[in-house]
Amino acid sequence: MIRYRMLIDGQRTEAVGGGWFPVYDPSTEEIIAEAPKAGPADVDRAAKAARAAFDSGAWPQTTAQERGRLLFRLAEKIRNESAHLAELETRNTGKPIVEAEFDIADTATCFEYYGGLATKVLGHVNPVPDNALSLSLREPVGVAGQIIPWNYPLLMAAWKLAPALAAGCTCVLKPAEQTPLTALEMAGYFEEVGFPAGVVNIITGFGEEAGAPMVTHPAIDKIAFTGSAAVGKNILRNAAESIKRVTLELGGKSPNIFFADADFEAAVDGALFGVFINQGEVCSAGSRILVERPIYSKFIEALAEKSKAIRLGAPLDRETKMGPLVSKEQYERVREYQEIGKQEARLISGGGRPSSFAKGYYVEPTVFADVDNSTRIAREEVFGPVAAVIPFEGESEAIRIANDTPYGLAAAVWSRDIFRALRVVKSVRAGIVWVNHMQPTYVEAPWGGYKQSGFGRELGPWGIEEYLETKQVHINLNEQPIGWY
Ligand code: NAP
Ligand code: MG
Repeated sequence: MIRYRMLIDGQRTEAVGGGWFPVYDPSTEEIIAEAPKAGPADVDRAAKAARAAFDSGAWPQTTAQERGRLLFRLAEKIRNESAHLAELETRNTGKPIVEAEFDIADTATCFEYYGGLATKVLGHVNPVPDNALSLSLREPVGVAGQIIPWNYPLLMAAWKLAPALAAGCTCVLKPAEQTPLTALEMAGYFEEVGFPAGVVNIITGFGEEAGAPMVTHPAIDKIAFTGSAAVGKNILRNAAESIKRVTLELGGKSPNIFFADADFEAAVDGALFGVFINQGEVCSAGSRILVERPIYSKFIEALAEKSKAIRLGAPLDRETKMGPLVSKEQYERVREYQEIGKQEARLISGGGRPSSFAKGYYVEPTVFADVDNSTRIAREEVFGPVAAVIPFEGESEAIRIANDTPYGLAAAVWSRDIFRALRVVKSVRAGIVWVNHMQPTYVEAPWGGYKQSGFGRELGPWGIEEYLETKQVHINLNEQPIGWY
């Protein structure tokens, strides 16, 4: 059994309490490794190491250029190890290897992007009405506590670590309990590429024991969280006590809207890609498919036929288009939504467990038609390959249904009418809107939600902003005393 170790203060370490937890391959249901079960004492060690590295030692002395170079070296190391990292990611998450390869390439690109951005953080001269020089300086926020989910394990780690390190912060990162392996593998790279000890700390364990103590720890200045809305609310409440900066990237129930004039082939293809990529375990999944009446019957027929043809298989097989879900817990949750959907709407494909697999957390890509937007399968995030197809009549009804959700992460609209498409773009309350596409994500462009999908933005220049404070500096150019009294 391989035992991976955490990274605290530059040391590869076990948990203080000596506990370990099993890590699974969801395609075989077998244990493939063990990770340290961190608790509050480990969080305390990691937070203090990150605090010390932020307050003293080499890191606060590094220039932006030096931080940029470290990030470039890290990106290069990840590219060199990409075959190994992709395989490890696939074994731990069940995602198809071809998708994992994209994830690892995106991970390296993210570190590169922020390596470049490190030297482009600019201050400001404020035009104050006095004989003075007024400046705004940008400074790192301090110690960042970063908590991430299991759907894109290493990529989510990069989205958190890269902007924070570029800004000059130090970090305590906690991967999801289901998928700690690639982050623990990467933990070995930081010293090799030249990061000082304590700048990056990676702890593994469960949310209550290893995540929650980060949120209340006095040495941590900011919490960056990606995960479910329920945990996000809990974090926001607990962060209030110490007025921590908080950014939240939560879930969604994103509408993928198809007008009758859309290119039919591209539309059906886009509906499938929008909801089934990565087994549907995507925060921006287009899980509500809104289809205009004139093409509705033809659309659901094509959707049913094509989703039945999706190739489920072993995650390491390059032909596989859908692997198992990440865990038993997630499998049971999705199976339950398949049953809920059967009560609420008309099942047109999937709806169960594929019979061809003796083992593994596989579920069939599932499509429900004639869904009413008030039902649970239209309102609750399933986070699996379950689509709810909702018919609509005309633009205003499409917009009303699209916005009738507590979430606001993403949306897509498909039409050949540019005027209509852009009216929908403006009317939908969501942080990301695609036109005639769904899901492409770029490190150069902002990512984050409206409404209960959270606040703050990751990626692009917006991403580094969340790790910066602004300091006003006023330099008096008058040599005389103030002379007030
Ligand atoms: P989750 O249960 O909310 O967990 C996310 C992370 O929070 C995990 O590391 C988890 O640890 C930790 N955690 C759990 N309870 C905590 C607590 N009380 N205090 C501090 N941390 C705690 O979500 P998940 O099941 O891993 O991921 C699925 C969710 O993430 C979906 O809702 C999805 O939409 C969302 N998501 C959003 C985005 C985005 O960019 N907006 C991206 C990906 C995923 P454990 O692993 O030990 O539970
Ligand atoms: Mg969880």
